[in-house]
Amino acid sequence: MNTFKAIVINKTESAYTADVKDISENDLSEGNVLVKVDYSTINYKDGLAITGKSPIVRKFPMVPGIDFAGTVVSSAHPSWKAGDKVVLNGWGVGESHTGGLSQYARVSGDWLIHLPRVFTTRQAMAIGTAGYTAMLCINALRKHGIKPTDGEVLVTGAAGGVGSIAIAALARLGFTVVASTGRMNESDYLKTLGASLVIDRSELSNPGKPLGKERWAAVVDSVGSHTLANACATTKSEGAVAACGLAQGMDFPSTVAPFILRGVTLYGINSVTTPLVRREEAWADLTECLPKEKLDAMTHEIGLRESISAAGEILAGNIRGRLVVDVNR
Ligand code: NDP
Repeated sequence: MNTFKAIVINKTESAYTADVKDISENDLSEGNVLVKVDYSTINYKDGLAITGKSPIVRKFPMVPGIDFAGTVVSSAHPSWKAGDKVVLNGWGVGESHTGGLSQYARVSGDWLIHLPRVFTTRQAMAIGTAGYTAMLCINALRKHGIKPTDGEVLVTGAAGGVGSIAIAALARLGFTVVASTGRMNESDYLKTLGASLVIDRSELSNPGKPLGKERWAAVVDSVGSHTLANACATTKSEGAVAACGLAQGMDFPSTVAPFILRGVTLYGINSVTTPLVRREEAWADLTECLPKEKLDAMTHEIGLRESISAAGEILAGNIRGRLVVDVNR
C-alpha cells in the first residue's frame, strides 16, 4: 500500500478544514495492529469533530472517525493476526489518535474486539458507537433490576442513532417504550422500531418542576439539559435513568429531589473507555436484541466524501437513525 484515502481535519489560526486526502501509513498514529477498514460511521461526536463545533479533536492534522470495522492486515499484538475481523469503538480514536474515516487505521490491539460472528462489518458499523452505547445504557438499567413489568421506559432523542437502537433493543427485550422526538412526522418509523407511544419532545425540553407525576420505570437519555432533568423528575420511585448524551445541552438543571425523595438512580454512560468485558457483553447482547430488519430500516449508507456534509446534518438533527460510511467509495 502506498497511499490511501482518508478524511483529514486541519486547523490553522484562520481556518478549520476537513477534506478527503491521500495519506500514507506514516500519517497514522502509532499502534501495533494495522486494520484495512471496511466501514465507519457518522456519530454525533464525529459531527462535532469534523465541523469543529466542539473541541473534540486534540491534535492536528487528525483523521476523524470514532469507530470502524474491518480486517487485520498485520499485527504485533498477541491477540490478533492477519485476517481477523475486528471492531473498534472509542479509546480517543478520531480525537487524539487517527481514526476510522480512512481506508486504513493503526491502533493498539488492546482496543479491538472481535466482530461478532452474526454481523457483517457493515452491520457492525450500522450499529456503531451509537448502538453500542444504547446497549450500555440498557444494560445499566437491567443491572439495576428494571424489568418489562415495571412499566414504561422513556427513550429521548428517539429518531437519532442512540435513540433508534435503544428503542429496537428495548422492544425486543419486552419493554414498553415511549419515544420522545422533535420529529413527530417520524412516528411511523419509531413505531416500526418498537415504540408503543410517541410523544413530542417539547413535553420534556422546557424548564420543569423538581418533581412531577411518577411515570417512567426507566429512561435512556441522549439529550441532556432540561430533558434529562424532567426525565429524572418524572421517574418512578427506585427507577433508573441512563444518561449518555448532550444533544440538547451539556447542562443539567435539576435538583436532588428525584434522588433523595424517590431513590431514583442516575447512571452515567461513557462508551469511550468502557472496560473490555463490558464492551464484549454489550456487543454480544446486540447480537440477540437487535432484529436485522430493524437495523436495516434505520441505516443509510454514504461514501467517504459525503461524511463531510453529513457532519453538519447530524448536528442539525436532520439524520434519522444511523449513517454508515463505506470508506472505500
Ligand atoms: P444523533 O444526532 O443521531 O441523535 C441525537 C438526537 O437528539 C436527534 O436525532 C434528535 O432526536 C435529538 N435532538 C437533537 N437536538 C436536540 C435538541 N436541541 N433538543 C432535544 N433533542 C434534540 O446523535 P447520536 O445518537 O449519535 O448521539 C446522541 C448523543 O449521545 C450525542 O450527544 C452524543 O454525543 C452522545 N453519545 C455519547 C456517548 C457516550 O459514550 N457517552 C456515545 C455515543 C453518543 P429527535 O429528532 O428524535 O428529537
